[in-house]
Amino acid sequence: MPLPRSRKTERFVLLFLLFISVFIVTACSWALWQSWQNRLQDVSVQARNQSLSLSRQAQDTFLQVNIALDEIARQGDEVFSRPEAYSGRNGILAGLSLPLPQLAGLFVYDKEGNWLATSRDMQFKQMNNADRESFIWHRDHADPGAHIGHVIRSRSADELVIPVSLRLNDAAGNFRGVALGSVKVAFFRQFYGWYEQSPGDLLALMNTDGVLLYARPFPDSMLNRSLSSSPLFTRLLSQSRIGSATWDSRLDGEERLFGYARLERYPLVVAVGYETRAIRHAWWKSNITGIGVNIFTWLLVLLFGYLVLRQLRANQRSQQALMRSQDELTRLNGTLSDLAMLDGLTGLGNRRQFDFYLEKSLQGTASPVSLIMFDVDFFKRYNDEYGHIAGDRCLQEVAAVLKHLPLRGTDRVTRYGGEEFAIILPGTHARDAENVAHRALEAIRRAALPHEASDLPDKIVTLSAGISASPPGDSPDSLKLAADEALYVAKKAGRNCIAGTDGICLL
Ligand code: GH3
Ligand code: MG
Ligand code: MG
Repeated sequence: MPLPRSRKTERFVLLFLLFISVFIVTACSWALWQSWQNRLQDVSVQARNQSLSLSRQAQDTFLQVNIALDEIARQGDEVFSRPEAYSGRNGILAGLSLPLPQLAGLFVYDKEGNWLATSRDMQFKQMNNADRESFIWHRDHADPGAHIGHVIRSRSADELVIPVSLRLNDAAGNFRGVALGSVKVAFFRQFYGWYEQSPGDLLALMNTDGVLLYARPFPDSMLNRSLSSSPLFTRLLSQSRIGSATWDSRLDGEERLFGYARLERYPLVVAVGYETRAIRHAWWKSNITGIGVNIFTWLLVLLFGYLVLRQLRANQRSQQALMRSQDELTRLNGTLSDLAMLDGLTGLGNRRQFDFYLEKSLQGTASPVSLIMFDVDFFKRYNDEYGHIAGDRCLQEVAAVLKHLPLRGTDRVTRYGGEEFAIILPGTHARDAENVAHRALEAIRRAALPHEASDLPDKIVTLSAGISASPPGDSPDSLKLAADEALYVAKKAGRNCIAGTDGICLL
């Protein structure tokens, strides 16, 4: 069954709302996801760039010390033959360290670890560094390159330093001692301190074994801690020298987006980490207005849809009410027109119905229409004899008899007026109409309603009948006139009889 129009509109509005909702939610989610990805991308580029520039700075820092150490190695024989010329405030080592603010000091040790010379202005006759990791390393390794050790507390300056050292060989290539420069951790602290960063962000310098040499903003107690289990050392550095990725920091377990860069010349790596939580928070803050506007727009659309739906339903209800009242009116109208077409005393069709039905019957039928007019005999006397109320009852009884005659569905019994009744018989010839009239008069006789004032011998109520039949298209008036004339003939003939157009037929 097709849906009514208002239901269709309602369904359309609902579908529209659903579509708009899905569209808004999908579009906003996509835009937000895109903006989050862009933010992550920007931060990772920034982290990578920063780690690259810090790695450059670290490389330069160690390279400058490396050059100074190379110079000491080049002057190896001089250093060992005239160590006093290299020591002290005005010594050659002090001259070499002067342009290098990162240096805590330059040192030369002999093959036993005894201090041979230092740039620092101090007494060192009894000092020995044979126990230091860097000394042991060079003694045991012939490697000519610079070695960068773990963070140690300097014996000469009582500060944290990162030792950078070179093996010194004699002419035969045998181990003769170590040249060492100690780089201040404070130098990195100061340099890294110039960068603006959020409290959770991290800058770190490590060696490629994962030992922490410096980390901002962490305390010095963290230095030399091994971070080798970090994905940076287990996986990422072996894949690329420079990159970015997100992982949980091994220093405090906080998730950060890291950029990292390994130095080209030294086994060191720099990492810059931005706290993911802070990135998310900043991103959220910059997007919250947009999200709010979108949600507000969506709610407005929903509200608009709701109002349209409500209006539709109200329209539907008033339409239904209108239809109900229209039905009611139609029904009432039917009842009224029925009432207007009925005779109040007998319940038969009245004169209006007679005229209406006769005219309708004569229109457009191919067969003739017959009309029987009845008139109660001596009815004036009946009223005189029994009174008007009895007269009315008598008319009701006559009507009931006529109503119960066995007739066709199309035949119509009406009260023509006063004590006159009529039967309209569409599609009926005069001869058949005569039979109907016979049956009517007989039925009235059988009802045997007493009428003492009647001239007729039986002293009962009787009817006279006049019949006319008309070809289709004939006028109602001519049919009525003919029936009336026939009735007059029947009265003249003595009453209680039927007169047709072609003569009288007595009962
Ligand atoms: P006839 O045999 O020639 O028809 O004589 P009649 O007396 O029947 O004819 P007449 O036309 O002289 O009288 C008809 C009477 O019917 C007149 C009137 O008082 C009476 N009548 C008409 N309508 C009603 C009615 O609704 N109720 C009652 N009680 N009498 C009615
Ligand atoms: Mg009459
Ligand atoms: Mg009469």
